[in-house]
Amino acid sequence: MHKVPTLTKDFRKIEDIGLDGGAAKLDEKKIQQVVKQVLDNETSARFEAYMDTCVHCGLCADACHYCLSHDGDPSYSPVGKMSQTIWEIVKRKGKVSPEFMRNAVQIAHTECNLCRRCMHYCPIGIDVAYMMTIVRRLGHKLGLTPQYIQDTCHSHSATGNQMWVKDDEWIDSLFWQEEEARDEFPEMRIPVEKEGAEMMYSVIAPEPKFRTHLIYQAAAIMHEARVDWTMPATPGWDNSDMAMFTGDNETMGRLKRMHYETAHRLRVKRIVMGECGHAFRSVYDVGNRWLAWRDTPIEMVHGVQFYWEMLTSGRIKVGSQIEDLVTFHDPCNIVRGRGLEEKGREVAKAFCPNFVEMTPNREHNICCCAGGGVINCGPPFKKTRIEGNSVKAEQLRATGAKIVIAPCHNCHGGLEDIIHHYKLDMKLMFLGDIIYEHMQKTRAIEEG
Ligand code: SF4
Ligand code: SF4
Repeated sequence: MHKVPTLTKDFRKIEDIGLDGGAAKLDEKKIQQVVKQVLDNETSARFEAYMDTCVHCGLCADACHYCLSHDGDPSYSPVGKMSQTIWEIVKRKGKVSPEFMRNAVQIAHTECNLCRRCMHYCPIGIDVAYMMTIVRRLGHKLGLTPQYIQDTCHSHSATGNQMWVKDDEWIDSLFWQEEEARDEFPEMRIPVEKEGAEMMYSVIAPEPKFRTHLIYQAAAIMHEARVDWTMPATPGWDNSDMAMFTGDNETMGRLKRMHYETAHRLRVKRIVMGECGHAFRSVYDVGNRWLAWRDTPIEMVHGVQFYWEMLTSGRIKVGSQIEDLVTFHDPCNIVRGRGLEEKGREVAKAFCPNFVEMTPNREHNICCCAGGGVINCGPPFKKTRIEGNSVKAEQLRATGAKIVIAPCHNCHGGLEDIIHHYKLDMKLMFLGDIIYEHMQKTRAIEEG
């Protein structure tokens, strides 16, 4: 039987104004009230089944990168995370101290990526990620959320995007990228507010803020493939969603509704989400269900699927190939969450014939350690995140690859830190980077 730890005085507490400031305002009565309200009204048979059926076998320990990266320390195991947090809260009927609650929320926010790898290892299929989201939800209702990620939620709630990009800045960024393209694709347009277009392309706020080249590249690919597309001029363009990760379900639902309403207003037939895993999860799996929509009201596809469609239908053709050894990182939210592993590989291998798999891979892949909102908890928790994923560094190093493809923004953030910290000689790329650089450019100005 696996040793299940409880929270002790030796807990790895990290100062954070959101957690510490929130705890200072709490009392036990308030905690009991919120715990009762959330457990009575927001959990159901699934929660009870997970609470009642764990047999403490510890098989999930080998699934979690935090646990593997700390020599199997049981306090980092998935079951250990439950025993230190939600089990204790339920057992004590919410009679826990503000300090206990604050530390439980720290675990749920910064020592679990909600990657759901452990669920595959649990013989009963217990979804520890779901249990951590309940702890985060309690934290949200109690005013206990790490400050960085809370700031991002506030920004998204107030402005419609997570990085406080003003409406005119957003439009300027699109026009700027269109202008940049003049020297390469003289006829390329970024169609804004085109009603009735085949599809709306959706990005996350870091793209106009500091990765505008990704918008350029996506537009170039659309142009080459002669796609009838558009982007909105109004809020609703940013598909990211930290509220989903903080347990602020009300804000999450409002943002997802705004996204789909924008697509409806433009009368598009489908939405294509750029290479971001969590944003896709928020509209494809979580936000839509919270809004009580069994499915998405408009077809929603991830960039990996879109690129695969463009390539296999011949709308994009391979112009040149990369000779370096290349590997592929399977993002949790689009592989365990959507099954896009083969499509991603097909696109990657078309441009990169020297391909090597990581071990393990596909639905067994090890998380980047950034997802689940963990990287968004900011600098105070960066060390936890990087030290909590030395196994990823080993996995990457063992491939001998010079390039790792990660079709997800969060994964890029996490892997960048891992590559830098563990001194891996590797370049990180999106699929869009590779397609843009190596597709046939029949509509470009000929060089020379
Ligand atoms: S990080 Fe992933 S494997 Fe570890 S407990 Fe969370 S969901 Fe499970
Ligand atoms: S969560 Fe599943 S794998 Fe982990 S200890 Fe409980 S029953 Fe075993």
